[in-house]
Amino acid sequence: MIGIVGGGISGLLLLHLLIESGRDALVFESADQPGGVMQSRRLEGPRGPVTVDLGPQRMRLTPALLEVLEALDLVDSLQRAPAGIPFTIYHRGKLHPAPLSLHDALRTDLISLGGKVRAAADLVTPAPKAGESVADALTRKLGPEVYRRLAGPLLGGLYGSDPAQMDARHSLVPILRRTGSRRSLIAGLLRAASWERAPVISFREGMGALPSAIARRYADQLRLGEEVRSVSPSPGGGFRIESEGGVWTVEQVVLTLPAPRAAPVVTASAPEAAARLAKLRYNPLAIVPLVTSVDDLSKKTGSGFKMTMDEPAATRGVTAHEALFGRQGLFTAFLGGMGAEAVVDLPSEEIEALATADFERVTGADATPLLVHRTWMPAWDRSWAALDDLTLPRGIHLCAAFSERPGILGRLENARRLLAELEGRPNARVPSN
Ligand SMILES: Cc1cc2nc3c(=O)[nH]c(=O)nc-3n(C[C@H](O)[C@H](O)[C@H](O)COP(=O)(O)OP(=O)(O)OC[C@H]3O[C@@H](n4cnc5c(N)ncnc54)[C@H](O)[C@@H]3O)c2cc1C
Repeated sequence: MIGIVGGGISGLLLLHLLIESGRDALVFESADQPGGVMQSRRLEGPRGPVTVDLGPQRMRLTPALLEVLEALDLVDSLQRAPAGIPFTIYHRGKLHPAPLSLHDALRTDLISLGGKVRAAADLVTPAPKAGESVADALTRKLGPEVYRRLAGPLLGGLYGSDPAQMDARHSLVPILRRTGSRRSLIAGLLRAASWERAPVISFREGMGALPSAIARRYADQLRLGEEVRSVSPSPGGGFRIESEGGVWTVEQVVLTLPAPRAAPVVTASAPEAAARLAKLRYNPLAIVPLVTSVDDLSKKTGSGFKMTMDEPAATRGVTAHEALFGRQGLFTAFLGGMGAEAVVDLPSEEIEALATADFERVTGADATPLLVHRTWMPAWDRSWAALDDLTLPRGIHLCAAFSERPGILGRLENARRLLAELEGRPNARVPSN
């Protein structure tokens, strides 16, 4: 029996893969509902009921994910975004389509001619290196203008983190390695853009449909409302999982929790690892779903918009669910992260007012906020140095969003790799998509 601590999407995907491969596993989840940050709600909006996502907003339908969705009978409730909708960047009073191809980069008016010429230095300058901040690496290679108007908002938005606080070795270097580009960020980005052909998807019931389906399928292997307090070696071999509901003995344990939650769980069995895990920083974020009364606004915003680093706004990015999944008038604003964490501490009415004002300024359209949801994201900043030489007792494994590629596809890849390891195939090739 394998004990999985945490019933977010990492723990649930792993549970699915383990059971499908004929192994026995049990998930312990402290909340009363499964899914962790991956939650959706049906809310009453000014234009009628609407499905909102309170965590991830979308993912790509890769072959590995399709296999999972087919096994869970989820294919019929898939929603596919139309191909090729650009996202936009707000700069000096105007939304610009993000230039993500060479053709668009040469023509965009988001970047001046001087900025474009400066960005060509990327081709001849050394690759980002360990110890260099992401902000410094992007500025050195692409120039300050491309960093502040395009690359910074893109990367900072992806991680919800401040590029000046992120060490290139934890984010940029692995991204570049994944694209196969040795030194050029532009070549890597163009290559990644050409791979990203897999359709962008969600579900009719929102992203929460995926964890809900796994939880329904394996209800007997899922213990909800059961917070794990500690994991320690069992005198007879294996591990004791002590939870609110009692004590369980399992052969191996997989931790899928956020690092600050994993630390106290392993304090007794691995105090040094616990101290390291406790050091990792997470950025608070506020999510505000907004409904506008204006039709077809996404013709202007594309699949959503990001702010340049110079834009004085509390909102860092907005997703257009209308354009992606036909949810009429629905946009979701993200505030906080990227060095602007303090905004998340404001009262909800003030956060709603900031999100609405930013939205109205950028789009010229009205908006009604539906709620404020506070969440967090691993910062992938310099505090990640604490993971160097992290060792856990043999038989305790990590399959967590802070330890490997974040994002749902990263979580699936991590679970597939761990499954191969548990089956004694540590060198098995796990496709990255
Ligand atoms: C706002 C936001 C937007 C995102 N957008 C996208 C996106 O559009 N596309 C994408 O691919 N990815 C996106 N991501 C990333 C992706 O959602 C996450 O990487 C992924 O959902 C993390 O899942 P997880 O299971 O690792 O962690 P979590 O979801 O944090 O799950 C961990 C679980 O452990 C439980 N737990 C904690 N302590 C204990 C304990 N002691 N005992 C038992 N259980 C415990 C928690 O209750 C929780 O359910 C986004 C993330 C956020 C926060």
